[in-house]
Amino acid sequence: MARITTKPAPAGPTTPQLLHAAYERRAAEAAPCSDQDWRRDHLGASILGHQCDRYLWLSFRWAVGKKLDGRTLRLLERGKREESWLVDDLRAMGVEVWDRDPKTGEQYRVRWGHVGGGCDFVMLGLTEAPEVPHLGELKTSNLKQFERLKEKGVKAAKPEHYVQMQVYMHGLQLTHALYLCVCKDNDDIYSERVAYDQAVAERSIARGQRLAVVSDPPDRQESAEFPPCMLTSKDGTQWPCQFHDQCWKGGIPEKNCRTCVSASPNAMDDCTDGLWSCEHHNHSLNPMQQRAGCNQHLSIPAIVGHQVAKVDGRQITYQAADGSVVVDGAAP
Ligand code: SF4
Ligand code: SF4
Repeated sequence: MARITTKPAPAGPTTPQLLHAAYERRAAEAAPCSDQDWRRDHLGASILGHQCDRYLWLSFRWAVGKKLDGRTLRLLERGKREESWLVDDLRAMGVEVWDRDPKTGEQYRVRWGHVGGGCDFVMLGLTEAPEVPHLGELKTSNLKQFERLKEKGVKAAKPEHYVQMQVYMHGLQLTHALYLCVCKDNDDIYSERVAYDQAVAERSIARGQRLAVVSDPPDRQESAEFPPCMLTSKDGTQWPCQFHDQCWKGGIPEKNCRTCVSASPNAMDDCTDGLWSCEHHNHSLNPMQQRAGCNQHLSIPAIVGHQVAKVDGRQITYQAADGSVVVDGAAP
């Protein structure tokens, strides 16, 4: 009788596990203020179309970073690489594509005080309207979202992308955008010409500017269980909003100046380079200082959300709904 031997499973992590771990490590070690840093100094145009005011506010305050696993980080990287691939394809077709602002040599940027963003590219020579310069906005999508996009169009299916394009067109004074979305399942490409809508752009920018300088977080949505706080697929898988813990479970936010009671963003006409101010130390805070914070950090109580039981100097003791005690801030 033949003897069957089975190969023992190798000890330790597999190659994909190591590869994904490397992505997580690089994300954790991203230099402050670099492109890899998840903290953006401005309130980004890419989120201005989000329906929840509180989401915009918590994002701008760096309340908590998206905890992305290595697989997701690599997925996002693929989206970025898709852009240079598509730019090459468009140029090969004879379309003129500018992916760098000729004035700065860098990515096209728009900025209105604390609100801003970076655009993908600008194109001229599209078959749809050869004489009209277009903003180019590229996204990638899974098949399910892609089919929804084809059925409903970008304004209804992806309102955040729609608003993002409106804001960029406003900033770059363009009348049209071409929205392109690549399906990651089959490489199909959806495209849609989007006309500039001044009212949408101005309303969205004004909303961001208003929320950026509010000192306390806007109210929560009505329910922790429904969108936009919680997305649930047909098979029951749930995706909580990245701020779900802060909004519904009294999670302590990240420790940086923007979540501290003593910091406030400078007024709109004095916020060049993302300047904020600290009233505890009575000095201004540049973006690097905002990231670092100091040992006097005290979280804004309205983010924490528990009932305040005791205030002692720069320390607050909270009573949580489940009876537990949460202490935040510097020791008295
Ligand atoms: S959890 Fe809900 S209320 Fe909180 S930021 Fe997200 S969407 Fe808004
Ligand atoms: S007290 Fe410290 S953490 Fe708070 S705003 Fe001032 S420098 Fe930042």
